[in-house]
Amino acid sequence: MTLADISRHCHNITTSYLASSGGSDIVNSTKQAIRLTRHHLLEEVFRRWDPFGNQLSFSYNGGKDCQVLLILYLSCLWEFFVRNTGFSQYGSQYHRFPLRSLPTVYINQAETFSTLEKSIESARERYFLSIYESPRNQTSMPEAFENYLELHSNTEAIVIGIRHTDPFGENLQCIQSTDSGWPHFMRIQPLLHWNLANVWSLLLYSNEEICGLYGKGFTSIGGINSTLPNPALKIDTLSGSLTLENRFKWEIFNAYDKQTSSENVNVSQLSDADEALLQSTGQSGYHPGWFLTDDSQERAGRTRK
Ligand code: ATP
Repeated sequence: MTLADISRHCHNITTSYLASSGGSDIVNSTKQAIRLTRHHLLEEVFRRWDPFGNQLSFSYNGGKDCQVLLILYLSCLWEFFVRNTGFSQYGSQYHRFPLRSLPTVYINQAETFSTLEKSIESARERYFLSIYESPRNQTSMPEAFENYLELHSNTEAIVIGIRHTDPFGENLQCIQSTDSGWPHFMRIQPLLHWNLANVWSLLLYSNEEICGLYGKGFTSIGGINSTLPNPALKIDTLSGSLTLENRFKWEIFNAYDKQTSSENVNVSQLSDADEALLQSTGQSGYHPGWFLTDDSQERAGRTRK
């Protein structure tokens, strides 16, 4: 497996999703969302910064938003490669994919769940991420990015999986400069228009392994001392929580490349430490994170915002 292979795989996932029929309103709106993200990346971002040069980096913290954006980014990377080689007289099979790994920045802010750390490790291998990891707790977010830029001085723009519904996300634009108090680089934010349901729809359909905490009722993951399963997903043992339903059955049963149609979701295994933590603190008995589609509740399990 190489970066080229996984990029082609992600392209196949996206193409297959876009060509699918029979999905719900969520699937239809996610198709629109994908088209706009693809337009941003292929027509605006990659025309300005060569994705095969070293001017673009990807910010990754193992969360669902950056994972779904990574799938789309790699998909566009493959398409960009094929398009460009199409202009030559030889087919893409005669060209070498110009990148071996994706420059990636992970700011290791606070102690987090070992299950999430393992997911980042798996992503590093699966998606050929060349991850710069800032030393934990030593610096503020702007300082950590400053350190990254000092080491990667050709970086001009960083791809970020923020959405309009995230805190302070409302008025952002796809391409914009950093605010004052931050080192200068361009923020590339092609996922702004996605809502929570769109993220779950493509991620569950992709059949890519997602962090196991999402299977245990987490909907947004931060530090271990500031993140709980989402209270809105607590299974009410008395009433049976009749109000919540899985709105992604189509995605799960028809997931890309799934060997047998089943309700199983490709979640990573919870670490023993996290399993014990959830048990000992009474944080079990929650519906999976994808049972929540209300954007306004997405961060209800984040005790510090
Ligand atoms: P979730 O909300 O489920 O944890 P997420 O972490 O992808 O998913 P956010 O927490 O809303 O989403 O963060 C938005 C984006 O900002 C991420 O997708 C990622 O691109 C970037 N980001 C956030 N925190 C970090 C970090 N510590 N290091 C690198 N990038 C980060």
